[in-house]
Amino acid sequence: MDAVLSVKDLNVVFSGFKALKGVNLEVYDNEIVTIIGPNGAGKSTLLDAIVGKSPVASGHVFYQGKEITNRSPHQVARMGVGRKFQNPNVYNQLTVFDNILLALKGSHGILASITAKLTKAKKGRIYDVLERTTLLDQAFEQVDSLSHGQKQWVEIGMVLAQDPSIVLLDEPTAGMTAKETRMTGEIIKSIAQTHSVVVIEHDMEFVKQIAERIVVLHQGSVLAEGSVEEVQSNREVIEVYLGR
Ligand code: ADP
Ligand code: MG
Repeated sequence: MDAVLSVKDLNVVFSGFKALKGVNLEVYDNEIVTIIGPNGAGKSTLLDAIVGKSPVASGHVFYQGKEITNRSPHQVARMGVGRKFQNPNVYNQLTVFDNILLALKGSHGILASITAKLTKAKKGRIYDVLERTTLLDQAFEQVDSLSHGQKQWVEIGMVLAQDPSIVLLDEPTAGMTAKETRMTGEIIKSIAQTHSVVVIEHDMEFVKQIAERIVVLHQGSVLAEGSVEEVQSNREVIEVYLGR
């Protein structure tokens, strides 16, 4: 089976500093890959390089067999790679429903999207996203009034609304309560029934809840890869990461 996303011998250099050194990564259909590693390991840089936000010095990124190395973030998103950043980037003054509407693939600006007649198909897609992100009850609340966790789910919903086939999430549980964190795990598992998901995370309880395959990054390189058990019993991983 071909990988949905394939990263080959990727190097990213920031003014002489090697942030990623020869990273390889494969992500398959309907799979959750969790990336862990200490602060500064290069986790966010890896996602940035995949979506064209960090310049790739050498190496390759393939998405559905097509090379996307160093394409613009806009192009990569349009091809179907969805990326959620660390900080929510939502329209606080609008309802949850309108936020998802605005993010729908094929929307053209705030006014056009909100004033245009909603087709049944569009409505259906919005409700599907709201259901997946557990936001049905909040559909017509202003995003402003939501909890921090719910805002993060709105943003996950906005990524889903763009109809990606792979979803990249950078620390989706940051700042969440324990309950919100658990619910986020369930949301991610539900997304993985129809998408591939890559999650950067450092909460090990959460990692255990969602993880199928874990990749450990350390100082810009892949240190280990495997199941939760394999990674947790890896001596090098214990030394640099879990044993802190
Ligand atoms: P992580 O997400 O694993 O905590 P990052 O990918 O954010 O780590 O950062 C990896 C390293 O690259 C860090 O040392 C960071 O300071 C550096 N870095 C990240 N982005 C930039 C940038 N735009 N310019 C210079 N250095 C950067
Ligand atoms: Mg980071």
